[in-house]
Amino acid sequence: MFTHVLDNIYMVSTGNGVFPSSFSFYIDDEVKTLIDTPLDNEFPTLFKDRPVNLIINTHFHRDHSGSNHLFPEAKVYVHPLDAPAMQSAEVFSDFYGLNDPENLYLKPEFLKWLNFKPSRITKHINDGEIIELGQTKLEVIHTPGHTLGHCALFDKEKGIVYSGDIDLTGFGPWYGNKISNVDDTIISIEKIIKLSPDIILTGHKGIINKNVEARLKKYLDKVYVNEENILKALREPLTLDELVEHKIIYGRWYEPPILYAFFEKISLRKHLERLINLGLVNFEKGYYLATNTRTRRACSH
Ligand SMILES: [Zn+2]
Ligand SMILES: [Zn+2]
Repeated sequence: MFTHVLDNIYMVSTGNGVFPSSFSFYIDDEVKTLIDTPLDNEFPTLFKDRPVNLIINTHFHRDHSGSNHLFPEAKVYVHPLDAPAMQSAEVFSDFYGLNDPENLYLKPEFLKWLNFKPSRITKHINDGEIIELGQTKLEVIHTPGHTLGHCALFDKEKGIVYSGDIDLTGFGPWYGNKISNVDDTIISIEKIIKLSPDIILTGHKGIINKNVEARLKKYLDKVYVNEENILKALREPLTLDELVEHKIIYGRWYEPPILYAFFEKISLRKHLERLINLGLVNFEKGYYLATNTRTRRACSH
């Protein structure tokens, strides 16, 4: 389904992508461009009458690059730090933490579930670079945190940011990969806020064109809410596995719970790395404990 956004820009979705289903965006300029491709084999059927010359992936995750291989004629651009995980199942697994001994048991099912297929990559894109599509000019904004090479694309003239998985969902920012980083996530969202976009086109929430700045700030605030809850739980010493059971990040685990527990644990680990650096949590003999029992926002602005 094509939803007109404005001018020559369309939001595209088949509505049946594998979890988590996602939105792509099509720019009908001289260079016909797709921003992201979902994990959905039906997706190319939408483009029978519309050529695709170029795919720009915001990052390596399968819900944003999963049907690249079904567009053999298109060029593919992605940031160099995410490129290896789109080309090799082993690097992909490394980035998810699936090659760690404790997670190896999840690896076969995980790769099958996410139907890993290598993507060809034509060109690496870097922060500040301008991609010219004809009338449209997109500036590459490197926004790491979710993944190492996550990028947003900024159409300055139209005031539009294609924000990938800085997706403005109620869940908040996601940092459940081994290579994710909470501090970088915060900096990247602040970077997008500074661009003062009128419209944000996100990978999971679609078109956001009202209260954009307030929405971005609320989204960022979820990081601090999570930290507040972690610090509250760590008024008593807990192991990481015990903290996982509090389900602070996901609130509840859907099916299959083993997968949510896996992402919950990695996300908490990412928070704990930051909280230890900030001196707000101590780690001793396998137990985490908040250094200050008076719970407060870790670093609220
Ligand atoms: Zn993602
Ligand atoms: Zn996504």
